[in-house]
Amino acid sequence: MRFVHDTLPQRVRLASGDAAASVAEEVAALGATRVMVIASEREAALAAAVTDGLPVALTYDEVVMHVPVEVADRARAAATDARVDVVVTVGGGSTTGLGKAVALTTGLPIIAVPTTYAGSEATDVWGLTAGAVKTTGVDRRVLPHAVVYDATLMTGLPVDLSVASGLNALAHCVDSLWAPRADPINAALATEGARALYAGLPAVVADPRSVEGREQTIHGAYLAAVAFASAGSGLHHKICHVLGGRYDLPHAQTHAAVLPHVLALNVANAPEADARLATAFGAPTALAGLERLRTDVGAPRALRDHGFREDQIPDAVAAVLPVVPPSNPTPVTTENLTALLRAVWEGADPA
Ligand code: NAD
Repeated sequence: MRFVHDTLPQRVRLASGDAAASVAEEVAALGATRVMVIASEREAALAAAVTDGLPVALTYDEVVMHVPVEVADRARAAATDARVDVVVTVGGGSTTGLGKAVALTTGLPIIAVPTTYAGSEATDVWGLTAGAVKTTGVDRRVLPHAVVYDATLMTGLPVDLSVASGLNALAHCVDSLWAPRADPINAALATEGARALYAGLPAVVADPRSVEGREQTIHGAYLAAVAFASAGSGLHHKICHVLGGRYDLPHAQTHAAVLPHVLALNVANAPEADARLATAFGAPTALAGLERLRTDVGAPRALRDHGFREDQIPDAVAAVLPVVPPSNPTPVTTENLTALLRAVWEGADPA
């Protein structure tokens, strides 16, 4: 066994019903006195409750998925003008992403309060979109200083979004098992993350207001994101990155629809990953377990329902092929990638 593993430094709190006090403690610990609160209009009420009593110098709500550069530039200028000394993000991956864009150029610390299972809060990866091209990079300045999870902030996340977002988290676990820097540490995190998500998501669907189900899903989503941050992007993330950036498809639904097809392509040549996931799912095979979960929670299947067009498949194939990680267990060809994207487009059963 031989590997090099980075563990990212970050404080994580799970404080259901108590996010405001936890955020206040984190702000005070930093000695910050001018807070920038980033939250979209849709999360404004959640953010107001979480940041009540803080020394807020700026409230910012221009949040756009995949962080267009001009949106990032406006947020950075506003942060500088208001002389803020900490950024508190309250929202999903798009909101955390805007906070990261501000931190990237200003060096400001972030306290992240996630309201989805996207997991951006646990990574030092930033993303920005210029035109139709999404660029990502790695920089320690964008890793949130602290993360405050509060399951009660997620009880209003609609079931369909919860499912798509939870499967986005599960995709972090699965892809971590064959990503470029896969190692035994991130495999252990990914496997426990997959187990927790497999238990948590059906509980969320059965009762979206259940704090226990939400907490179980948060636990899994955090482990998933830590595993992903360490292991890097595997084939699944490379495909989703191309689809999301080029055709402006919704992030979580894209992950949910693509995942079973990448799993089906890779398991034949990844017996250890198959065995780990099968055990985590309590199923005979990883794919059988994932299919049962997708049926139980009513997962998104066909990307044509979310804006992907059949005539975009050849362009997507050409864009994905050059970025396929050499570590991928199954060799990727024009033929098998075309078949995979066609199945994703129409929502066919994974082969
Ligand atoms: P999102 O942040 O765009 O949120 C999706 C929708 O859910 C939005 O309409 C939002 O207003 C709504 N919402 C969020 N929380 C809610 C709540 N509690 N109740 C009701 N509605 C709520 O989507 P996302 O899937 O969380 O994040 C996607 C973005 O995150 C993408 O741009 C992706 O690239 C990025 N991301 C980055 C990383 C990273 O490591 N850098 C990791 C994962 C995702």
